Amino acid sequence: MAETINTSSNFIKNIVKEDLAEGKYKDIITRFPPEPNGYLHIGHAKSIVLNFELADEFRGKTNLRFDDTNPLKEDEEYVQSIKKDIEWLGYEWDGYHFASDYFEEMYNRAVLLIKKGLAYVEDMSQDQIREYRGTLTEAGKESPSRSRSVEENLDLFERMRKGDFQNGEKVLRAKIDMSSPNINMRDPIIYRISHTTHHNTGDKWCIYPMYSFAHPLEDAIEGVTHSICTLEFEDQRPLYNWVVEKCEMESVPKQIEFARLNLTNTVMSKRKLKQLVDENYVDGWDDPRMPTLSGLRRRGFTPESIKLFCREIGVARADNIVDVRMLEHFIREDLKMKAPRTMSVLHPLKVVITNYPEGEVEWLDAEVNPENEEMGKRKIPFSREIYIEQSDFMEDPPKKYFRLFPGNEVRLKHAYFIKCNDVIKDDKGNVIELHCTYDPETKSGTGFTGRKVKGTLHWVEASHAKEAEFRLYDSLILDESEGKDFLDHVNPDSLEVAQGFVEPNMVDAKENDKFQFFRHGYFNVDPKDTTADKLVFNRIVELKSSFKL
Ligand code: ATP
Ligand code: MG
Repeated sequence: MAETINTSSNFIKNIVKEDLAEGKYKDIITRFPPEPNGYLHIGHAKSIVLNFELADEFRGKTNLRFDDTNPLKEDEEYVQSIKKDIEWLGYEWDGYHFASDYFEEMYNRAVLLIKKGLAYVEDMSQDQIREYRGTLTEAGKESPSRSRSVEENLDLFERMRKGDFQNGEKVLRAKIDMSSPNINMRDPIIYRISHTTHHNTGDKWCIYPMYSFAHPLEDAIEGVTHSICTLEFEDQRPLYNWVVEKCEMESVPKQIEFARLNLTNTVMSKRKLKQLVDENYVDGWDDPRMPTLSGLRRRGFTPESIKLFCREIGVARADNIVDVRMLEHFIREDLKMKAPRTMSVLHPLKVVITNYPEGEVEWLDAEVNPENEEMGKRKIPFSREIYIEQSDFMEDPPKKYFRLFPGNEVRLKHAYFIKCNDVIKDDKGNVIELHCTYDPETKSGTGFTGRKVKGTLHWVEASHAKEAEFRLYDSLILDESEGKDFLDHVNPDSLEVAQGFVEPNMVDAKENDKFQFFRHGYFNVDPKDTTADKLVFNRIVELKSSFKL
C-alpha cells in the first residue's frame, strides 16, 4: 500500500519551508475555516488533510474556526456535524474559534478604518452600488457618499450597530479605488445590516462583517501564518492584504490559493447538496449517495481511505477533475486485508439438494479472509436447502455460460459440486425452485481432482440464513457538468434495494461493520436503518473496476 502514497512535496509545503528558513515566521499556524451552512464534503476533506498535515509536518498548529458571519444560513446542527466529521477523520484541532467571537474587535477595526478616512457609510441601494461598480473594461464611478466626513461616518456606523436602520438601508464600504482594474478593490462592502438572530451571538448584533473583510482579520487575530484557500479567492488577495495592513494587524498572514477538488459525477457545492436534501432527492445529508463525509461514512468509506485519496491527488494550482473511481480504489485497498469475507444472496432462488439427507446440517470450514490468515476461520452451515443468486441460473443459456442450467454441474464455494436436474415453476412459468443433486466426493478442502467444473457459485444455507436488505448504489449525478440545471442530471436509478440473505455468522454484525460479500463487493452495515430483526447493508463499492491508478 505504501507505494500508492504520494510523498512528493506540494508547492505549499515549499512555501512554508522557505518562510521558516528565512525566519519570516517562527512557527506555522494553519486553519480550517468552514462556514457552518452545510455538512462537510469530500472537497473539504482535501482542505482538512492539507491544513492539518502541513502544520503537523512542521510541528505547527491548526485551528478549527467557524466562519459564521452570515446568520441567515448558519446553524448549530452544522457546527456539530463539522466537528464530528473532522474528529472522525482523526484530526485534533489546536485552537477552536468562531468568527463571531471577534465581532467586537472587527467592529473596532472598522471604526479605525473610518477614522483613517478609509471607510464610509453608503446610502445607495445594492443595485445602485452594482451599477456604479463598473465592469472589467470600464472603471467604476465614485458614490456621493464617498465624500462624507469622518465624524458623520462614525455617527452613522454607530447608529447602524444600534439598529436605527433597516436591512439594506446602509452599508459600510472600504474606501480604496473605484478605478482599480481589480473589481474587488472598488470600494468593497465590508459591513451590512441584517436583523437576524445569530446562532452564536443571538440578537447582540444587527450588523455583520462581509467575508472578505472578516476573513483576513480572523486569520490575523489568531496568528495564522498560512491562510490556504481555493483558487477563486486569488483576485481577493490584494483586498485580503489591504485589510490586514490598513487595520494595523500585528500578525500578518499569507494567503495561498490551491485548486479545489472536483470529482466526476459529483456535485460538490453545499448549496446544491442542500437542495438535494431539501427537495428530497436523497434521504438527508448522510445519504450514502452523497459526497458528504457523513454520507461517505454511512456508505462505508473509512477515514484512512479518504486520507489516502486526498494525499494521492496532491495539491496543485491548476483546476482539474478527479475520477471518482480513484476514491473507490482506495476503499478497496483499505478493506482488502481488513474486511471479513462472507457470502450473501441478494436475489434468492431456492435450491433443494434432493440426495442430501433431510434434517441434517453440516458445518463447513472456510477462511475469514484468504489474504489475511490472522483473521482465522469461520463455519458455514450446509444442508438440503440453500439459496443461490437468481442470475446464477438460466434455463436456456447462451454458449459459454458456466453457471447453473439444466444438466450442468457447478461448484458451490466452500462446499460441493451440484448438478441441476429439475426446474420447478409456478403457474405463470416463473422459476421458483431448482432440484439438484450433490456429489459427496467433491467436498471443498479434500483435494478432490476427479473432474473440473467451470463455474463457482456463492450460496447461503436456507434454514440458518439471516434476512437482510441490500442497498446498491449508482452515481447520483449522471452528467459531470456542474451546470445550472444539475437537477436534470440526477440519476433516477441511483438506488436499488434487494431483499436477500446472509450467512448466520453475521448475526453479531454491528453498525458500520464492513464485509466483503463474495462476488458482490464491499458492504457496510447501515448505522441508521439496521434493526434487531433485519440487517441493512450499503454497498460501498463493487469488487472490480477498470480504473487504474
Ligand atoms: P462550497 O463551495 O462547497 O459551499 P465553501 O468553500 O463555500 O464550499 P467553506 O465552508 O467556506 O465552504 O469551506 C471551508 C474550507 O474548505 C475553505 O477553506 C474552502 O476553500 C475549502 N473547500 C471547500 N470546497 C473545497 C473543495 N472542493 N476542494 C478543496 N477545498 C475546498
Ligand atoms: Mg463559502
